Amino acid sequence: KAKNAGGNQPAFFAPNLAEAAEQRRHLENDLRLAVAGGQFELYCQPIADLASRRVTGAEGLIRWRHPERGLVPPDRFIPIAEQTGLINEIGLWVIETACRQLADWRAAGIPCYLSVNVSGRQIPNGLPPAAIAEAMQRHGVSPASLVLEITEGVLLNNIAEAQAWLQAIKQLGLRVYLDDFGTGYSSLSYLKRFPLDTLKIDRSFVQDMQVGNSEYSLVEAIVAMARSLGLKVVAEGVETTEQLGMLARMGCHHAQGYHLARPLPPAEFSEALQEIDRRLAQTEPVS
Ligand code: C2E
Ligand code: MG
Ligand code: MG
Ligand code: MG
Repeated sequence: KAKNAGGNQPAFFAPNLAEAAEQRRHLENDLRLAVAGGQFELYCQPIADLASRRVTGAEGLIRWRHPERGLVPPDRFIPIAEQTGLINEIGLWVIETACRQLADWRAAGIPCYLSVNVSGRQIPNGLPPAAIAEAMQRHGVSPASLVLEITEGVLLNNIAEAQAWLQAIKQLGLRVYLDDFGTGYSSLSYLKRFPLDTLKIDRSFVQDMQVGNSEYSLVEAIVAMARSLGLKVVAEGVETTEQLGMLARMGCHHAQGYHLARPLPPAEFSEALQEIDRRLAQTEPVS
């Protein structure tokens, strides 16, 4: 980056640590205000079913509309929320908002499920299954339409507690997806030990797939393994028609990525659905 920008000047400067700490304190304060002040939005990114070539669901991705900084992406504030414990309140807001969104979709005749992210820090006590059940009930949401995404770190950090929490979640009838699959330790034993429904292949593999390269082989192997274990697969980060074609031929069940749509403000979601379905219908079918 910025290689020859300034002749002999160094391209990068050592960060001023005091300044960074000050900025962080600022962000932390603002985050407290954001929780109280309703500054979050849950964007929705469509997820397509590759067999029926239709959008059947979406992932809910949080955004922070900061009064001065504009839209702040989750990677900038979720880690701080986790460290300060604010993630628990934010996580309950996400569940509440997802349930309200699902109720709205249902009223509008949009039969999509919604999948939301859960941090390890929220499990088990920050996100009690009873609180999820209560929100679903209040909004008249069917458990089949709400999905939770967790990463494998959650499972490996505290196996017994994670297992009990997952059991309770499954008893409510929710599905649980394993997010960012392939980036962590990927010890395969937990695929049998935990009641998971779906693997989400991390976008780093999907983006680098070329027929014959190692990412291609990895994705193909993950799809085959998941299928033989009775798990479904979502490929994240699908950016091209070629990637979509490869995944469909591999027997991957679902796809999500900029090729279909970016995460959208809820108001733009239903219109985008129709356009994506039209586009998908034009791709060649795979038997
Ligand atoms: P994730 O759960 O793995 O979400 C997928 C990320 O990939 C999203 O980034 C999405 O915008 C991005 N993405 C989707 N398709 C493409 C593509 O085709 N190309 C590229 N380059 N990127 C794509 P986002 O929204 O910035 O979220 C980042 C991470 O923040 C999420 O990763 C998740 O770990 C976390 N996160 C988001 N919302 C929440 C939330 O409500 N709660 C918690 N605890 N974490 C959240
Ligand atoms: Mg996710
Ligand atoms: Mg992911
Ligand atoms: Mg990710």
